[in-house]
Amino acid sequence: MAIEIVGVVGAGTMGNGIAHVFARSGFRVLLCDVEQKFLERGLATIGKNLEREASKGKITAADKNATLGRIEAVLKRELLAKCDFVIEAATEKLAVKSEIFRELDRICRPDVILASNTSSISITKLAGLTKRPDKVIGMHFFNPVPMMKLVEVVRGLATSDETFQAVRDLAFKLEKTPVEVNDSPGFVSNRVLMPLLNEAMFAVMEGVATPEAVDEVFKLGMAHPMGPLTLADFIGLDVCLDIMRVLHEGLGDPKYRPCPLLVKMVDAGRTGRKSGQGFYKY
Ligand code: NAD
Repeated sequence: MAIEIVGVVGAGTMGNGIAHVFARSGFRVLLCDVEQKFLERGLATIGKNLEREASKGKITAADKNATLGRIEAVLKRELLAKCDFVIEAATEKLAVKSEIFRELDRICRPDVILASNTSSISITKLAGLTKRPDKVIGMHFFNPVPMMKLVEVVRGLATSDETFQAVRDLAFKLEKTPVEVNDSPGFVSNRVLMPLLNEAMFAVMEGVATPEAVDEVFKLGMAHPMGPLTLADFIGLDVCLDIMRVLHEGLGDPKYRPCPLLVKMVDAGRTGRKSGQGFYKY
């Protein structure tokens, strides 16, 4: 089955980026969220990001308008019935995603692949809520989606080879590089990245070095474009804590315990860049 119309559920940071790259690659996109204001914000962000690409000469003004013209914002989820592929990029809560997957399974044709952009929720669990577990898969993009090349393609226990190949091909059509991983807490990206950030926080908590010094070590010594504490502030300390808890619970190994300083900062509302304060002040 040819994929022409793509549904994107959730128009936030990731959803609008995902809609952007699908539309830029010629797909028609139905972008769905729960309130008109979220759809408007998502479309405005896409417009701004396309404008930036046009000003840098990466696309023409005509490409920009054509891309925007391929995106339709919808509030009614039932309209996703006409989609050939749907990717969910809604809030990272199991209850939210469970309801969406049950509904998508009811609404979409039985041959349609249902993907999730989740960072940490089990693909196998989401698949188990549907009558098409072989057609459920993780398609994990990275922020900012229009810029980052990687897509982790996450195989749930029941994901079929056909589904995997179809999503891998889709990633290539979006000019992304798919990497195959199996369903496991944090997949590869967060399983390896988050303990690094968490350990950097332990170093600060134990007085080994200041946040500035830890970040300098990684920028100058390991050629990281940003140090681990700057990155944690950028991602959001609440998001980092949620992911550490998923790793700790899911893998059951004390080496994944969240740093107490991280817990304390989230309790205090210092969640990083978005709150104006984290390891740094903004
Ligand atoms: P966000 O908060 O920016 O956006 C989530 C959007 O989902 C909001 O607009 C919200 O209104 C919408 N939403 C909530 N419930 C909905 C429903 N029932 N139907 C439709 N829309 C609904 O979050 P985000 O950062 O874009 O994250 C979305 C997903 O992407 C999460 O699963 C997250 O783990 C994953 N992710 C995030 C990043 C990142 O860096 N932000 C990176 C990779 C993956």
